[in-house]
Amino acid sequence: MKYLSTRGDSALRSFEEATLGGLAADGGLYVPETWPAFGEEEIRAFRGMPYAQLAARVIARFAGESVPAGELEKLLERAYRNFGAREVAPLKQLDDSLFSLELFHGPTFAFKDFALQFLGELFGRFIGARGRACAIIGATSGDTGSAAIEAVRGRGGISLHMLHPAGRVSEVQRRQMTTVADANIHNLAVDGNFDDCQNLVKAMFNDAEFKKRHALAAVNSINWARIAAQTVYYFYAAVQAGAPERAVSFAVPSGNFGNVFAGYAALQMGLPLRRLIIGTNRNDILARFFESGRMQRRELHATISPSMDIQISSNFERLLFELCARDGGRVRSLMEDFAKRGEFSAPPEALRKAGEIFRARRFTDEETRAEMKRLYAANGAFTDPHSAIGTAAARAFAEDGVPTIALATAHAAKFGDAARAACGAEAPMPPALREALRREERMTPVANDLDAVKELVARGAAR
Ligand SMILES: *Cc1c(COP(=O)(O)O)cnc(C)c1O
Repeated sequence: MKYLSTRGDSALRSFEEATLGGLAADGGLYVPETWPAFGEEEIRAFRGMPYAQLAARVIARFAGESVPAGELEKLLERAYRNFGAREVAPLKQLDDSLFSLELFHGPTFAFKDFALQFLGELFGRFIGARGRACAIIGATSGDTGSAAIEAVRGRGGISLHMLHPAGRVSEVQRRQMTTVADANIHNLAVDGNFDDCQNLVKAMFNDAEFKKRHALAAVNSINWARIAAQTVYYFYAAVQAGAPERAVSFAVPSGNFGNVFAGYAALQMGLPLRRLIIGTNRNDILARFFESGRMQRRELHATISPSMDIQISSNFERLLFELCARDGGRVRSLMEDFAKRGEFSAPPEALRKAGEIFRARRFTDEETRAEMKRLYAANGAFTDPHSAIGTAAARAFAEDGVPTIALATAHAAKFGDAARAACGAEAPMPPALREALRREERMTPVANDLDAVKELVARGAAR
């Protein structure tokens, strides 16, 4: 399997090159040259298969010759062995046709562990084989930072430098990052906001000499290996709810469009899906696109579902590429419009195609709290605000006789303030999370200054 860019550069890359490279040279995102496909018989055989084994079957189609099949399965066994649920991703039935797929049993209690635990193993393997140390740098405003840290802590030859805006991430999220004691983990608390952190990371990648000297690598949300890992749970859950004999729908709380794009990938690979339903918070750029065909950047609002507080859905470019019949030149010109003017309009044919599968709806904080309260009253269980946007979206587009699976993306205890406000009660902390949060914090405060940050990265980089 080879990969090409969404912006027209047709040079083909291997899975290994796409994983380590992150972004394509022309600024586009990597996509598979063709979609691998499973027949109905093969999909039926997924039913009852343990998670890591199913993951190996699905991801083998993407990894191609970059990872031998036997090794891939071992690597996936390791990636998912630290999950707190035997099923890895338990599927719970909420009512006649609504299910919740719990994606929060990983080490950091959010769905990003599914992709990042796998990515950590992959980096370990690729870097080990190349015999060269690398420095991973990233910026986080929330769940990605801790998931990346858990994925590479203690790995030889890899250092991780995670920038977060000092004083602007929640206490749970900060402690999840700063209480990890491994020597290869470096938390940089930047005196600035999230955009400042992202700009510092971009500036380091744009310094070719610095990038080469430390073999800089990224684990951000556009990495293809993350999407590949996320396609697995669509297959895993759909066969339990009746696929391939009957089509099922998924409802996905969305921000950067990575999670729901993995569902679209599963559809391309032969999984019979009826609808992909998108839920957003007040930052509704995606909901507005599916209504109007116009992608338009607006002011960013802070909400009770902070992991979806985004202005630009970076993975959306991959869908645009498919909707434009894989015309990379077209995608490039639309993305250039967006960079220049903060908006673009998709061709009518693209919007029509999107409407065959996608539905989208936005939810205010008030509506989200109402859904959390409703779920608490109905099931006696706490739901985190992101996951509640998922079930609310599922109910908004419910169809008779179509099972709908809402993706639950975080554990309620990670967003305890929201649970308290909505349900008037305290969401119980899982012991592993409580334990982790008690440990001593370790981070380095740094000015919003490129040279100061570079010096810290250089000092901490593995050799
Ligand atoms: C990252 C995240 C999301 C959004 O996922 P995308 O892939 O960015 O659309 C939703 N919920 C939680 C809890 C997250 O951490």
